[in-house]
Amino acid sequence: MKIVVVGGVAAGMSAAARARRLDEKAEIIVLERGPYVSFANCGLPYFVGGEITDPTALSIQTPQSLASSLRLDVRPNHEVVGVDLVKKQVSVRTPVGSTTIDYDALVLAPGAQAVIPPIEGMDSPRVSTLRTVDDARGIRDRVTSGARRAVVLGGGFIGIEAAEALLRAGADVSLVEAAPRILMPIELELTGLAVAELRRLGAHLYVGTGAARVEPGVDVDTVVLNDGRTLEADLIVVAVGVSPETEVFENAGISCLSGAIIVDEHGQTNDPHVWAAGDATASRDGVTGALRPVALAGPANRAGRQLADAILRPDRARKIPSVLGTSIVRIGRLTVAITGANRAALDAAKIVYHTIHAHPSHHASYFPGAEQMHFVVHFEPVTGRLLGAQGVGKAGVDKRIDVLATAIRASMAISDLIDLDLAYSPPYGSAKDPINMLGMLGENVLTGQLKLWQATEAPALVSSGDALILDVRSAEEFARGHLPGAVNIAHTTLRDRLDEVEHAAAGRPVKVMCAAGLRSYIAHRILVSAGFDSSSLSGGILTLAAVLSAQGQESLLGAGSN
Ligand code: FAD
Repeated sequence: MKIVVVGGVAAGMSAAARARRLDEKAEIIVLERGPYVSFANCGLPYFVGGEITDPTALSIQTPQSLASSLRLDVRPNHEVVGVDLVKKQVSVRTPVGSTTIDYDALVLAPGAQAVIPPIEGMDSPRVSTLRTVDDARGIRDRVTSGARRAVVLGGGFIGIEAAEALLRAGADVSLVEAAPRILMPIELELTGLAVAELRRLGAHLYVGTGAARVEPGVDVDTVVLNDGRTLEADLIVVAVGVSPETEVFENAGISCLSGAIIVDEHGQTNDPHVWAAGDATASRDGVTGALRPVALAGPANRAGRQLADAILRPDRARKIPSVLGTSIVRIGRLTVAITGANRAALDAAKIVYHTIHAHPSHHASYFPGAEQMHFVVHFEPVTGRLLGAQGVGKAGVDKRIDVLATAIRASMAISDLIDLDLAYSPPYGSAKDPINMLGMLGENVLTGQLKLWQATEAPALVSSGDALILDVRSAEEFARGHLPGAVNIAHTTLRDRLDEVEHAAAGRPVKVMCAAGLRSYIAHRILVSAGFDSSSLSGGILTLAAVLSAQGQESLLGAGSN
């Protein structure tokens, strides 16, 4: 068996290494266009930021180490420029000319290329992507040799990582995002925390406006934004997205969807001798069922390994699962993480869902150092099936998102989270872990014990007066800021003041609110027992303030609210 692998990093090298472990006799050739193989793309931002100081640490393996340990024939600086599916042959551009190589099985793992926006000035030497080891070295060299003003185009995960790294390296960073928010996959009630942390780190944010052009200069470039503002830049990092790098293969007859190679559950393409994995392929979304490219290292590495099984021992090969897109990014002291579908994906797939919010401490609140976390969780109304979750916080978010990702993968319902037997002692969690609490909250919603109203409804409620807004925080908290027209009755006194509520509601529904959602839940139960049409604000004022701020309506709560 002669296996030729195109692309020698995550998916490609996983496939090649697994193939060797399955078949000692196979001839395995890995063709990599660049000078490095098996390098840690995910580590590049941390080299730029100076946390990883030795660039050789980014090379997990070398052709020599792969030859000696796995007897792989790894050929850097070899670019596949054509495929003949009939002859089962690839055409390769090598440092010493062109050649062809035959294969029995061809593995395509060419990844994705950074998208370069079609604007003037992108050919300036001060413009760089952050995709390869040489990109990272170039950016690091510029910063250490005095480049101070850095402009990052793109506020997605890679753009944020680049910005964070450049700030850490001492640069003055401007982050430009054309979309209305940075980190668009994250729900709007959580992005404000990321924005605040970036600002605390010193970043200047230009959101809702893209770069119109770059004007190269002698000493400095100028980035001109669509709204006319200008930013001087010694260094410009372009991180506006990636697209599958598949033209050669599509031209050869491999079926693609918007450039992403279409594969079956074993990574096989439309050609029976060709398999593909990683950023270059279209993945099935595990929640919505949509086909889309997912540029993440975990799915790429795992799919690469699994397709080697499909090639060499198909009878026992596991299926490559759908993806949840579980991702995590550090911003200074903050962790932002997501798994499963967000509102936009659920809406696009016409999936109906409940959304809950919670702001628990990452470990027992009485134990020193407890940090507040912020979660948004979506689940199906009838079955309770978990659909997606996101979290932001200074500690503890990573493990909760991983538990939620596992629960989604296992098709668990929100109420199943109640039963998860999670490790606890005060420095690590709570006897009712935040995950269990999310389950309890969700189950209350599913069973009708708790009826929620959402922060996004607040502006319309205030202006229409269609409901009584009942704020059940203390008078002191209320005085610090509240929604216009809200009536304040602390939840501790509510049982004795129901006649006041009745009078103020005058037959209207009662929308209860507090700081985080617990007191309003208690008040809601009192009101329901007394016969009121009541609902409780999901996530309380913490969520409301974040939503209003994201919508530019923070004044609705008055200064210094909460
Ligand atoms: P790649 O790892 O990109 O490898 C593809 C290789 O194929 C490239 O080296 C390319 O040169 C080569 N190639 C392309 N065309 C040809 C050709 N015609 N002939 C020969 N060789 C070819 N993911 C996470 O999950 N977490 C993270 O924290 C994270 N951080 C990231 C940070 C950065 C800066 C970047 C750039 C990516 C990050 N990712 C992260 C994404 C992750 O690195 C990718 O999803 C993963 O590497 C994809 O693996 P792949 O094998 O499909 O493609």
